[in-house]
Amino acid sequence: VPAATQRLAVLRTVPDIRAAVAAPRAAGGRIGFVPTMGGLHAGHASLMCRARAECDFVVVSIFVNPAQFGPREDYTKYPRDLDADSALCKRECADVVFAPEVEAIYPPGDKTRVEVAGLTDGMCGAFRPGHFRGVTTVCARLFNIVLPDAAYFGEKDYQQLKVVERMVADLQMPLAIIPCPTVRDDDGLALSSRNAYLSPSDRQAALTLWRALQTAQAAVTRGARDAAAILKVVHGTFTAEPAARLQYAELRNPETLQSVERIDGPTLLALAAFVGEVRLIDNLVLQPDA
Ligand code: AMP
Repeated sequence: VPAATQRLAVLRTVPDIRAAVAAPRAAGGRIGFVPTMGGLHAGHASLMCRARAECDFVVVSIFVNPAQFGPREDYTKYPRDLDADSALCKRECADVVFAPEVEAIYPPGDKTRVEVAGLTDGMCGAFRPGHFRGVTTVCARLFNIVLPDAAYFGEKDYQQLKVVERMVADLQMPLAIIPCPTVRDDDGLALSSRNAYLSPSDRQAALTLWRALQTAQAAVTRGARDAAAILKVVHGTFTAEPAARLQYAELRNPETLQSVERIDGPTLLALAAFVGEVRLIDNLVLQPDA
C-alpha cells in the first residue's frame, strides 16, 4: 500500500484548516474536533471514534502547546511523530489533521490569555502554575479557528475537562464539550503519551495509581465515607511502592470540584504521582452504591 494512502493530509496553517472545514460546514455538516498534543494512542483514538460516530466531519489537532508547560517540564522532549500520528488519525477515519507551527497559534506580539478562576486552584493547578491558563488559551484559539459543533475531551484529564466546560459556558462559545471515558491498558494503567517515557520497571511502579484508585473504591464499597480515612488508604498504597511518589490525592465533587469531607454520592478521587522524572495523573469517580 503506498504510504500516501496510510496517512491523512496534514494542514499547517490557519487559512488551510479554515478552508478545509468551510465546505462541510456550509453543507450543514456537524463538525467534530479532537484537540491533542500528539503521541497518539488508543485513548485519543476513542475520542476520534466517538467524534466519527456523532459528526459529519472530524478534525484532529496535533499541537504541543508551549503555554501549558512549566519551565522545568517536558515540552522539548514531549513525543513528536507526525507520521505515526497521522496514520492513527487515518485509521480512525478522521477527515483532516491540523498540526500548526507555534507561530500560527501564538503570532508574534499576541497578548491575549484566557483564564478560568477557582476550578484551577487545587489539584494539578496547585502544582503546575499557569498550566490551565495555557490549556484554556489554546482551546479558545483552536475553537475559534476550527469552529466545531462538538469537541471531545478525555475524563483522564478530569480537571482540564471541567475547566474547559466552564470556559465554554462562561464565554458562551457555541459548541458542545463531550466527555469520554478513560481508556486503560489491560492491567489498568491509564493510557498517556507520557507512558512512552517509562522503563518496564517504571511501568510496574506506575500501576500504583490504578491500584490506589481501586483500593479506595474497595474501601468505599466496604462502607468507608470519611475522606481522611479514604485518603489514608491511598497514601498507604503508595507507601508500599516507593518507586511511585504521590504528589497529591484529593477527593472532590465531580461537578463543582469542591473539596469533599464525607462521601455521600459519587466523588472524584484525583491523583498525581511521579515515577522517576515522569509525572502521571489518574482519577476515578468513587461510587458509594457500587
Ligand atoms: P493530550 O494529547 O494528552 O493533550 O490529550 C488529548 C485528549 O485526549 C485530552 O482530551 C485527553 O483527556 C484525552 N486522553 C488522553 N489520554 C486518554 C485516555 N487514556 N483515555 C481517554 N482520553 C484520553
